[in-house]
Amino acid sequence: MKGSIKDVIENDYCIGCGICAFHNKSSFTIQLDKFGMLKANMSTNEISNEELIEISALCPFSDYIQNEDSISEKIFTDVKTKDPYLGKYIQNYVGYVEEGDYREKGSSGGMGKWLINQLFVNEEIDYAIQVVNQKVKGELYTYQVFTKDDNILEGAKSAYYPISLEETLTFIINNEGRYVVTTVPCFSKALRNYAEKHPILKERIKYTIGIICGHLKSTGFAESFAWQLGVEPKNLKGIEFRDKIPGRKANEKGVFAEDTYGNKTKVVSSRDLLGGNWGHNMFKYKACDYCDDIVGETTDVSIGDAWLKDLMDDDKGNNVVVVRNRRIGKIIAKGISDGKLNLKAVSPEVINMSQAGGIRHRREGLAYRLKQKSNKGLWAPEKRVDKNLKVSRSREKIYKVREDVRDASHEIFFEAKRRNDLIFFKKNILKEIKKFEPSNSSKIIHKIKSTIIKLIK
Ligand SMILES: Cc1cc2nc3c(=O)[nH]c(=O)nc-3n(C[C@H](O)[C@H](O)[C@H](O)COP(=O)(O)OP(=O)(O)OC[C@H]3O[C@@H](n4cnc5c(N)ncnc54)[C@H](O)[C@@H]3O)c2cc1C
Repeated sequence: MKGSIKDVIENDYCIGCGICAFHNKSSFTIQLDKFGMLKANMSTNEISNEELIEISALCPFSDYIQNEDSISEKIFTDVKTKDPYLGKYIQNYVGYVEEGDYREKGSSGGMGKWLINQLFVNEEIDYAIQVVNQKVKGELYTYQVFTKDDNILEGAKSAYYPISLEETLTFIINNEGRYVVTTVPCFSKALRNYAEKHPILKERIKYTIGIICGHLKSTGFAESFAWQLGVEPKNLKGIEFRDKIPGRKANEKGVFAEDTYGNKTKVVSSRDLLGGNWGHNMFKYKACDYCDDIVGETTDVSIGDAWLKDLMDDDKGNNVVVVRNRRIGKIIAKGISDGKLNLKAVSPEVINMSQAGGIRHRREGLAYRLKQKSNKGLWAPEKRVDKNLKVSRSREKIYKVREDVRDASHEIFFEAKRRNDLIFFKKNILKEIKKFEPSNSSKIIHKIKSTIIKLIK
């Protein structure tokens, strides 16, 4: 049974969404692995082939699940416009929330929590499930349930932290009502696919709000940031990844940590911390290197950061927004006409430009990784990307180093914690990051090429 959930778990492609553990509690559990990533464990109990096929069809990284195209085709039947990177869409926007504190308290433009609030105001939902930045049972970020009387703004900014849907699903099944859930792309794929087979979930989950996702991080990401700020992992109570730093570029994410005594560190740009460069791939789940959905094609609306040149100096933050659900489209249109939202309609190309790095990594980068696996005769999840896509030698090198740094970061940080030695982490991870630097011969070739170009001009 190639490509079943068994292969996903054994080859480390699990993202820890928790659908399997919810569906079949006797055979699957979700636990943090030794590197701090939530992943499924399959019990050694005998599981029949029929059961294995059934559960594999629920796992977002198995070959038995339908892909994002098939899922979105079934959900957004009336939406005909489609982009190769955004999936189906009705309208795209760039901008921010004008009303209240949503922008100030949001990661970028504040659209995520504003939309949740509107769904309550319009009495379209009874419950919102979003992520909260509050230590619960040792985990710094978890999904929590909100009702209309709760303050939606207490939801977290971007949680670069492992979370799971298992308890969320239990709550939904036990509590009748209409729900919105905020999800990263693979969680939405898993949820929407599961809802198709589960009438109660299908009836209750009215909306998903998609959080555009570069990749998910292990707990090591939070711990290493906090440690660099002066809070040791064992004393870490909380961390904020997306404080806004006045006067700095929009993509300079402000980070601060809180220790168990309630002391908060100063705010530092994530760029000044090891691990803060997304392109270095540190503390990443392996599964994320095998994802081809950049924005969350199965969600009703995708919300991301507007990393666009002309908006970079706006330190208050801007969103990119991709609408797929007509009802959400109407809420946004009304928000604009009422002056609550400052959004400008844009073409799909503008949204794609804001996600250029993510697109490159999950198209040509993914093609490279799939080809490598295939050359070695190893299984990798089936993707909508052609493994024979042409990739230049220099880009291949970057993609190779990214995988090496991903794996090394987990190992090195694990060892640094065991030794209680932050310097060990810094010294060894820097050696790995150095591998991104071009070799002397590539530098010479690059120099010759640019001289020729200059001469031709
Ligand atoms: C792991 C991760 C990777 C990301 N990568 C990218 C990227 O590559 N490109 C890009 O443009 N944007 C990315 N984002 C999204 C971006 O950081 C903002 O979260 C998004 O723009 C929403 O901003 P906002 O101002 O509307 O936030 P808000 O109004 O504050 O709304 C954010 C909502 O998202 C919920 N939320 C936060 N983290 C999670 C999570 N992990 N899972 C589910 N729900 C969550 C919060 O509870 C809140 O309801 C990423 C986010 C995460 C969590």
